[in-house]
Amino acid sequence: MSDTWVDGNMLAGALGEIFAIDLTAAVGRCAGCGRVGPIAEARVYQAAGLVARCPRCASVLLRVVRAPDRVYLDLHGLALLELAVPSA
Ligand SMILES: [Zn+2]
Repeated sequence: MSDTWVDGNMLAGALGEIFAIDLTAAVGRCAGCGRVGPIAEARVYQAAGLVARCPRCASVLLRVVRAPDRVYLDLHGLALLELAVPSA
């Protein structure tokens, strides 16, 4: 793991291509340590794709890899994802 990272707002473009709502504003619970916080606070590392790590325990929260004709999304590090939606 590199020491160079940016905050979770870096994920907006990659996730905005998949989801109709802004996931960086979502609140996630880390499966590693239980920390609850906005995805925008994650530490994002650029490798073959984007890897978002928990700012407390450094566990992988999510990974996004963009291929020419598809996107691979790994959310196994998020125990829960809370998304705000308009009231029904
Ligand atoms: Zn954690």
